[in-house]
Amino acid sequence: MPVDATLPYDDQNIFARILRGEIPSKKVYEDDHALAFHDIAPWSPTHILVIPKGPYVSWDDFSMRASDAEIAGFVRAVGLVAREAGLVEPGYRLLANAGPHSHQEVPHLHVHILAGRPLGPMLV
Ligand code: 5GP
Repeated sequence: MPVDATLPYDDQNIFARILRGEIPSKKVYEDDHALAFHDIAPWSPTHILVIPKGPYVSWDDFSMRASDAEIAGFVRAVGLVAREAGLVEPGYRLLANAGPHSHQEVPHLHVHILAGRPLGPMLV
């Protein structure tokens, strides 16, 4: 079910629970600002989700409320994960859904890293 990302942050969402260690994930990276783990239902051979550790619903929420250090740390983590996963060649795609029209399902900001096959043009 798509979520209404204008709602206040729900600390019971599935990624908040993964951050608290209440449910398991296949972690690939963690630092002070970000956690990365494999998507449970991958769309491509490599499908990693990178999430900020703070309580942000969407990219716009994050850009308005996060500190400069959180924003820099998160953006850097996305690039580090792609690099450390060996995806720089032949390439990867970043995607972040926000709000019902995007079909965002989990109301905690996440960037999808998709790779492992030719992804073709962006489809909308
Ligand atoms: P969205 O549609 O919100 O951009 O993407 C949410 C993603 O989270 C989906 O690709 C979905 O497969 C993934 N997901 C949902 N629940 C879980 C979970 O419990 N664990 C993991 N690792 N991924 C999940």
